[in-house]
Amino acid sequence: MKTIGLIGGMSWESTVTYYQVINETIRRELGGLHSAKVIIYSVDFAPIAEAQERDDWDSCAEAMAEAAQSLEKAGADLILIGANTMHICAPYVQEHSSVRLLHIADATIGRLKRDHIGTVALLGTKYTMCMGFYKDRILKSGISVLIPGDDIDTVNDIIYDELCRGIISEQSKQKLLDIISALKEKGAQGVILGCTELGLLVAQSDTDLPVYDTTLIHGEEAVLEALKSDSE
Ligand code: GLU
Repeated sequence: MKTIGLIGGMSWESTVTYYQVINETIRRELGGLHSAKVIIYSVDFAPIAEAQERDDWDSCAEAMAEAAQSLEKAGADLILIGANTMHICAPYVQEHSSVRLLHIADATIGRLKRDHIGTVALLGTKYTMCMGFYKDRILKSGISVLIPGDDIDTVNDIIYDELCRGIISEQSKQKLLDIISALKEKGAQGVILGCTELGLLVAQSDTDLPVYDTTLIHGEEAVLEALKSDSE
């Protein structure tokens, strides 16, 4: 079993889910008393969120590369950035680390392709929904992406003002479900929970649209990768 290195803390609410899904997947795959070999480098999220707000992506990239290098030194064989937004820095992190970075969007695209999804709704932070780093990767794979027009700030505020602070609100859940329904009306065949905290609010059981929860997908794919032999 390879050792998974996880850059967590963005926010720690979703790092908890990562740790759980990684271990649950190891149990499903190996059974018995097996548990994951995982190293977590959990950052302080406040300065990172402030840097995001002032569009200081260079500082974000430095922080992510430093975390990846620490994980590499500690023995990680595979790196995960435990947040969609911070994948803005993924190319820089990969350049500064000799360990493979498993990209959260690639893991998700793999599932969308498997399910023959041609048009997908994307929910996440305003950065993930509006900047190119994430959407363009999906578009390049041949899948069309729909984002909420007037509700970008609503989704973004639910993430930063509530979910990243451990606040779970029934009212916000309803708002998200309404946004998902509207995107379904526009042609979405599935919805990407493209923020690692969104699964704290919305689950597959809440909607009939197929839900792609990036935290769960990323964690599961990391385990499958960690269990592959080097020749595969
Ligand atoms: N965890 C979130 C994400 O997946 C938002 C926090 C962040 O900005 O990193 O995008």
